Amino acid sequence: MKFNNIIDISRRIYPGMVLWPGDAGVQINRQASIKSGDICNLSSINMGLHTGTHIDAPLHFIDEGEDVSSRNLSRFMGFAKVFELNVKECITADDIKSLSIDEDDIVLFKTVNGLIPEEADFVKYYVYIDASAAKWLIDKKVKTVGIDYLSVDNFYLEDSPVHRIFLSQGVGIIEGLQLKDVKEGRYFLSCLPLRIDGVDGCPVRAVLVEIEE
Ligand SMILES: [Zn+2]
Repeated sequence: MKFNNIIDISRRIYPGMVLWPGDAGVQINRQASIKSGDICNLSSINMGLHTGTHIDAPLHFIDEGEDVSSRNLSRFMGFAKVFELNVKECITADDIKSLSIDEDDIVLFKTVNGLIPEEADFVKYYVYIDASAAKWLIDKKVKTVGIDYLSVDNFYLEDSPVHRIFLSQGVGIIEGLQLKDVKEGRYFLSCLPLRIDGVDGCPVRAVLVEIEE
């Protein structure tokens, strides 16, 4: 097997970028700068931990759940399958039953969400995963599920049923992927979170590596 091209499937992080409504905005602070006579450039950042391309830990919806730093990293690094689904509203069990999804798979769903420009304002009618698909994926015992907008759940369901289904079973969630330039197929995925203790989510630099088998 040979590893080829690396495809960046992460969103850029910058002040003013699209966020989940209510999330803390991105501020990048230049604390020291060479132009102003400092010895080096030195920056800090303030932002919500569910900014851009990120993972959700069980702690996000389960108060005693695992935090980011306790997660098994095999959920965020390994072979992954990208499936392109031409659904308009949501992904149901019927939409994915015929796909070759097996136990321990990392599955990433590419949808029309990829057509929403990255700079566009927040869109409420993005394609989400419905509870039937989530339960089917749990029965299949997948390791991780990723989607190409900021939530796996329907914006209008306040109890976030799909987050609860996945996180209560320890399934990894990756949100905010940028899959528009990715073809269906099998890749090597890396999207490791920072090892921050006690947090419920974390931005990741998600990449797919093309493989030759
Ligand atoms: Zn999240």
